[in-house]
Amino acid sequence: MRAVVLTKFGGPQYLEAATLPDPVPGPGEVLLRVRACALNHLDLWIRAGLPGSKVKLPHILGCDAAGEVVALGPGAEGVALGGRFAVHPGRSCARCDACRDARDPDCPSYGIIGAYGGLPGAYAELLAVPIEHLLSMPDSLSFIDAAAVPLTFLTAWHMLTTSARLRPGETVLVVGAGAGISVAAIQIAKLAGARVIATSTSKEKLEGARGLGADETIHHPPEDLVRAVRRLTKGRMADVVFEHVGVAVLMEALKCLRPSGRLVTCGATSGALAEIDLRYVFSRRLSLLGSTMGNLAEMRRVWALAAEGRLKPVVDRAYPLEQASQAHERLEAGGQFGKVVLTA
Ligand code: ZN
Repeated sequence: MRAVVLTKFGGPQYLEAATLPDPVPGPGEVLLRVRACALNHLDLWIRAGLPGSKVKLPHILGCDAAGEVVALGPGAEGVALGGRFAVHPGRSCARCDACRDARDPDCPSYGIIGAYGGLPGAYAELLAVPIEHLLSMPDSLSFIDAAAVPLTFLTAWHMLTTSARLRPGETVLVVGAGAGISVAAIQIAKLAGARVIATSTSKEKLEGARGLGADETIHHPPEDLVRAVRRLTKGRMADVVFEHVGVAVLMEALKCLRPSGRLVTCGATSGALAEIDLRYVFSRRLSLLGSTMGNLAEMRRVWALAAEGRLKPVVDRAYPLEQASQAHERLEAGGQFGKVVLTA
């Protein structure tokens, strides 16, 4: 099969086109002919060499696949050849205490295809997928749109509904409106009946955020974030902050919370070593919540909403598989609105 492999940890130049043996679907698995694979910031971190990812080189990146079934492994019943599916990217044992408690990412053997646990990803023509991780595509979704859903919508769903327990009528501050994760968060927060304030350094991205349902926007920077939130909430401040930017904004984002407010974070694209004034956290009784991914039931719930058209994937740009390094440069530069996708 055609694939793009990471040959060395470092820059996008180490993503190289290659021809590899076709994967063979194991028991309970199907072979998916990958038609589209969305990029995530996780791809950039793994490419640069993320400690603890257990990735061995050469490695196939890619967490978010969509395609059609071309072969069935032993015992993979009830799936039609030619069926169109996206893929739940998480992998867990389904037997340990964490898995039985629906905390899949807490599983000691948790993995993410293309990223954690040495699992090959979807920068390739073919991918073996357990049948219980297939997400059936309605005719209304293209492969490119379908690939743009799983990881970011699952992560944003878990962050807002499970971690931050967002309630109708609450105000959410969504930081960095152009990111795929924020595109998901704005829509999920609106669906939950919340009021959304979105921020971006780009006025075009703020327009995009309004198009997705954001009620208010803040052009930050240059606008002062805390002052703008105070003005827009008439001094009440936000109930929840949705964060993934990290060092550039974290302390200011905490100051945007009301007393007993919750900040939920899944990333640190601007840098991970942020300084926090703890006096602010305890005296205002703030919650700082960390989150990655979500469980299979949450994936199915958020997928159903996307399949019904109630949550909409937003695609910035699609590149042919062999141009994976250009796609990485696009995502790394931060100019995108929505998902960057590879097509194979
Ligand atoms: Zn487990």
